Amino acid sequence: MLKCDSLSVYYGKTCAVHDVTFSVPEGKIVALVGANGAGKSTTLKTISGLLRPSHGTITFNGERIDGMRPRDIVARGIIHVPEGRRIFPGLTVRENLEIGACLRCDGKASLERDLQHVCQLFPQLAKRMNQLGWSLSGGEQQMLAIGRGLMAKPKVFLLDEPSLGLAPVVVEKLFEGIKQINAEGLTILLVEQNAYLALNTADLAYVVENGRTVLHGAASDLLKDESVKRAYLGG
Ligand code: ATP
Repeated sequence: MLKCDSLSVYYGKTCAVHDVTFSVPEGKIVALVGANGAGKSTTLKTISGLLRPSHGTITFNGERIDGMRPRDIVARGIIHVPEGRRIFPGLTVRENLEIGACLRCDGKASLERDLQHVCQLFPQLAKRMNQLGWSLSGGEQQMLAIGRGLMAKPKVFLLDEPSLGLAPVVVEKLFEGIKQINAEGLTILLVEQNAYLALNTADLAYVVENGRTVLHGAASDLLKDESVKRAYLGG
């Protein structure tokens, strides 16, 4: 469904992503795991059009999307849920969710249905519809960021570090939601520093080191891989 082929991305003269190739099959969760600064977020930003690759191609359902404007990429259903949530702190939960739907041109009824779906997925948000974004806990803000993404009617989700800074019990709830939306058919490209969590959630995974993919395979196989265990799973 989504394919990055020999992707290289630079910040000025610094190469952050070097010759990266991977694909995300429809309906699957694919994880990019790796340490801080490995190039994972840069890869997601390049797919969503915030950065331009210097080499390589990105295709979505066979169509080249590298070089397209971010809004045209969003219009194709590629939705980025960024690291750090980036919700609008001065808007209510409902307004944040409605912003996610700003490029849609289907009717009010369908929008309301999707709002209900987000509320069913994350009941905590349902209780806070009129509360301002800044007043939510970190976990609720992450649920809101995912909910806002869902309101855009995604075909593929680019999920950047959803567990960052959250308590284990909150992470557990959040990942139940992530698994549910995948079970409902949403394809997910997941970036996570928590390799254990990522590999237990994903179908397939790529290990990224210094801007390169060094290993890939079924997530369940990588969980048993000795080099992955040593480097990312605490031995
Ligand atoms: P993290 O989880 O910490 O964000 P990451 O794997 O997502 O790690 P990136 O954020 O993609 O890594 O960073 C890859 C490399 O690019 C790092 O060396 C980082 O310092 C560098 N980098 C990231 N953003 C910029 C920027 N705006 N300008 C210059 N260099 C950058």
